[in-house]
Amino acid sequence: MNEKMTFCEECRKDVDYSAESVTMKGTLKGEEYEFIGKKAVCAECGGEVYAAKIEDENLKALYDAYRQKNGIILLEKILEIPQKYNIGKRPLSLLLGWGEMTFTRYCDGDMPIKQYSDVLQRIYEEPAFYLSLLEENKGNLKSQTAYEKSKRATVELLGGQKTAASKVDEVIGYLLFQCEDITPLALQKALYYIQGFYYAFMNSFLFTEDCEAWVHGPVYREIYNRYSSYRFNPIESNNEFDVSVFTGAEKAIIDSVIQNLCCYSGKILERFTHSEMPWLKTRGNLPADAHSNRTISKEAIGEYFSAVKQKYNMLTPNDIENYAQVMFSRSIKS
Ligand SMILES: [Zn+2]
Repeated sequence: MNEKMTFCEECRKDVDYSAESVTMKGTLKGEEYEFIGKKAVCAECGGEVYAAKIEDENLKALYDAYRQKNGIILLEKILEIPQKYNIGKRPLSLLLGWGEMTFTRYCDGDMPIKQYSDVLQRIYEEPAFYLSLLEENKGNLKSQTAYEKSKRATVELLGGQKTAASKVDEVIGYLLFQCEDITPLALQKALYYIQGFYYAFMNSFLFTEDCEAWVHGPVYREIYNRYSSYRFNPIESNNEFDVSVFTGAEKAIIDSVIQNLCCYSGKILERFTHSEMPWLKTRGNLPADAHSNRTISKEAIGEYFSAVKQKYNMLTPNDIENYAQVMFSRSIKS
């Protein structure tokens, strides 16, 4: 039953032991520190015994004494920082302009130098300070998602209120949560189809953003810029998403687009959109490889997808499947 067993030299067997608080001294970096440590005592003969767990605790107590005397942030506080600001250990190191593994080592118990400790102490105490670092140094982070997640957590800490993520951001968050390998190109197409089919079923648009008729299909420019560093690679996925932000209808339509269209690559979806009226009409006579920032009007999108819904006799969002299959079979013939 008792996990607290160790070998007693005196009793020549494994024994229970108890821990007694004692004042101890230890040397660290050439200086002696006094601290409250523990000694393990054999439950049978009362002699002192060795217990690895107690030794670890004493070492930590010595380090804590060092930290307290030298004004170095406590390990407990260091460990709280990533959770508090919803940021990984490595991204935090990069954000602060440190070596990628520096913060990880501090979490493992390494003693931070005073200068770094002061930064961590201030981050721990002042969310506003952290937020200013996050904004200033977000370019150091490898992913936009890491920045957004951390910003949301920090703003919540500061104001107690959730950031008013726009609808398109919520849709993107959900897409990144559901689709494990969605590229920037595929993301653009997914947003376009969600916007179009949402209109077809609900007679209103899900988000206000407009897309442009670029060479490779409809593109939401601001979102393109946000994820352009991923190029042709999948965007880092979100680990969690609160799906309660969507109504039942929103979720049904988004889920159907994910299931029936996001299964195709960005390139295949590009072929789909290249054969659809909104993109074609907006491009007009432009050569295939000509840059264009012409906006695809919401009217064109609404009109087209309403007609699609009618033509394919779609009764529920699940019926988007019929359209996707026809588009796919056409795309391989051409
Ligand atoms: Zn003993």
